Amino acid sequence: MGGQKFSDFAPPSKCTDRPSAKKRLYQVWRGRNKFLCGGRLVFGPDAGSVLLSTVLIGGPALTFCIKMLLRISELDFLYGRIVLAGGFILTFLALSFLYMTAARNPGIVPRNNRPPVDFEVESVRSLDWASCGTPSFKIPRTKDVIVNGHTVKVKFCDTCLLYRPPRASHCSVCNNCVQRFDHHCPWVGQCIGVRNYRTFFCFVTTSTVLCIYVFTFSLLNLLEKPGPLWRNMSDDTVSVSLIVYCFISVWFVGGLSVFHSYLVSTNQTTYENFRYRYDRKENPYNRGIGQNIKEIFFSKPVVTRINFREWVNEADFHVQSISRKFSADFIGTNGKLDLELGVIGKDGKPFPGILQNLDYKGIEESLKKPKGGKVIVDPFVLPSDQDDKYTTGDSFTDEDRSEFSSERTSSAVLGR
Ligand SMILES: [Zn+2]
Ligand SMILES: [Zn+2]
Repeated sequence: MGGQKFSDFAPPSKCTDRPSAKKRLYQVWRGRNKFLCGGRLVFGPDAGSVLLSTVLIGGPALTFCIKMLLRISELDFLYGRIVLAGGFILTFLALSFLYMTAARNPGIVPRNNRPPVDFEVESVRSLDWASCGTPSFKIPRTKDVIVNGHTVKVKFCDTCLLYRPPRASHCSVCNNCVQRFDHHCPWVGQCIGVRNYRTFFCFVTTSTVLCIYVFTFSLLNLLEKPGPLWRNMSDDTVSVSLIVYCFISVWFVGGLSVFHSYLVSTNQTTYENFRYRYDRKENPYNRGIGQNIKEIFFSKPVVTRINFREWVNEADFHVQSISRKFSADFIGTNGKLDLELGVIGKDGKPFPGILQNLDYKGIEESLKKPKGGKVIVDPFVLPSDQDDKYTTGDSFTDEDRSEFSSERTSSAVLGR
């Protein structure tokens, strides 16, 4: 899959040496990911659901295999062994694809510790910002980027402090921007993005095949036995349970397989499909079914843009987290200086420019006097999970709303 290159943001400061104050990036990472094996395996925050998925897939599949193993002497020599091996192989593949999807960095975009250079401060303001009343900061909320001859708007992510690459979106569950964001899968406990979509697709399709496989051979087990079917059913409750379980499950996994096959053939993500369904915009990434399949399944794997094991300056990440907390606290304390400010001041750490030049008074007023009686929320000053409220399912409308409201609040808060 082609990941668009974006060079207008600088990655977090890197260093190759290892002084004692340094930490590995995964140890200070501000996303909600969980890491194993020293940052080599990257999971989502709800990684525990992988265990549930393992039980839901592996439980019935292994029950089927054990059942076949017990019956193998009654069956034709070749038939029994082939069916048994097929069951084991499909179970192994489905679970392997599940773990490969869950433990892989989905394509997280490296965060910035500071806003990119595009953020021009129009006039230099004193550090005594609390006494200043006139805002002097201009932030372009979106940028136009040309993709395959189409103009695509990319938005600025207030949490990651960067312009999202085209097709990237901020996952509110993981609190990261993810390249070619598809959705956050609660069954895998991980974002599905540019780097794990293939294995996710393989996981869904092999699960569907496994479901049909267990259903078919469990039904044959009942039909092949001599005697009336109803008596066989009452004698073999395991096969009946497997048939019912697979019949219900196949609608779910089979539906997902069909849906993602359609997405692959049209080169859409789940997010784009829901987001732009009613916009009737032309999909700039659709290059014909053959090229789309080639791009998604046969292009070079996208290399990760983050090395979670690299050594970083812990202080860089600390400053930003404090300043974000400060910005939230500040509004809550009605413009009074918070303790956090003192901490930063004593350490001699400057506020990031973005905070020095914000008109906090304006922010407060915009929160107090919402237009149309509704609180206008500017994502710039709220905790990151207020940013893009995309979760799997149906909550796309919040971003739609924020697109319209962000311009209002940006001009109210950040403009002149
Ligand atoms: Zn982001
Ligand atoms: Zn996620």
